[in-house]
Amino acid sequence: MQAPFAIILCKLTDSDTEPFPKQHYVKLFTLEGGDEWNLARYFADWSHGTLDLSGTQVFGWYSLDKSVADYNALEKKARPTLVKWAREAAQADGVDLSPYYSVVVCTNVGMDFGSASYADGTPIGAVYQGPINSTDVGHEMAHQLGLEHSRKDGSDEDYQDPWDLMSVKNVHATPHPEFVHIGPGINAHNMRSRGWLDESRVWKNGGSAFDETVTLRPLVEHGLPGYLAAEIPGGFLAEFRTPQGWDNGIPLASVLIHRFANKASYLMEGNNGKPDLVKGSSFGSPEPDPQAWLDPFHGHLRVDVLSISIAAQEAVIRIRYHAAIRMDYRAVDLMSMLLPTSAYLRLLELHHPHVPRVEDIREALRVLTPQEQAAALSRARALVAYGTAVEEAFRGLAETAPRLG
Ligand SMILES: [Zn+2]
Repeated sequence: MQAPFAIILCKLTDSDTEPFPKQHYVKLFTLEGGDEWNLARYFADWSHGTLDLSGTQVFGWYSLDKSVADYNALEKKARPTLVKWAREAAQADGVDLSPYYSVVVCTNVGMDFGSASYADGTPIGAVYQGPINSTDVGHEMAHQLGLEHSRKDGSDEDYQDPWDLMSVKNVHATPHPEFVHIGPGINAHNMRSRGWLDESRVWKNGGSAFDETVTLRPLVEHGLPGYLAAEIPGGFLAEFRTPQGWDNGIPLASVLIHRFANKASYLMEGNNGKPDLVKGSSFGSPEPDPQAWLDPFHGHLRVDVLSISIAAQEAVIRIRYHAAIRMDYRAVDLMSMLLPTSAYLRLLELHHPHVPRVEDIREALRVLTPQEQAAALSRARALVAYGTAVEEAFRGLAETAPRLG
């Protein structure tokens, strides 16, 4: 998607100073400024090449006939109004703003920064007052591009994911000599929410039970072959992040897991209470025992980080998933609860399943491994025990109860 921004530099009447020369803004926002850590490249990198901000241009400095006090007095209308003033100043200078996706208005003085959009999400423009830094203004541009604040699981508070740009002021940013700080990146679920995640590079398995090992590349490394994220049942995405480049400020090379709901990403915690999973960390269910693995009522989901290497640019994770059979109010063939699917389908195909003929069952049991046979037997005994307990409970009931034979 082509999304060139018009950057409009404006002076308020309080001061005639320019906090930086125009070229500083050209370097910060555009590909042509000569600094590789420019925001046009940032959005290309964190959209897997989907967003194209080339054509972004810087205009100004324009002197507005307004003061910081004029701006502040507008309160909630201040940001869209400043955008309107700046657009008018640029248009008066002969600038055609129609080719631009949106605008960022940078003023020489003032303290505010933020983003304004219409109720339907259509961008109006971003505002940045005073000394500018890449992380904060990048965050406002990301709002213009449709992202909302990121959160962590268990709370609906904003700004709770330090690995994601959409938690600005509470992030692992990287110092930069001119842009103050840059990064961090954008998580895979936020990328997906805007169509920026390369879905052809997301590992997926739609099965109801699997145990698989997946090698992940760092999320931002679109140029390397392999998977950039893994889809985990339950709506989770796993991603690998390394303390390099835009992410240089993050503490450790680690695997992060997010879910997404109501336009917001939620950072998940691992089983040790930390969100950044390193070698030996896990997420989800406790280590499943082999018996539980065969139990159709027992569901589990577990992710283990097996290894992480910055040198190889790889994280290896193991994903184990077993969907539990959901018991609802539909009629249940008890035999389906006793036998693993392979044997049950065999029985279903060959015989009427609702008549438990011993010969038919024996034939179905023959296709099972000894371990599966043991599990089926243990489930059968469990069902007998449940049935006996229900029968026993009836004995203590009043005379309204059905008569026992
Ligand atoms: Zn924000």
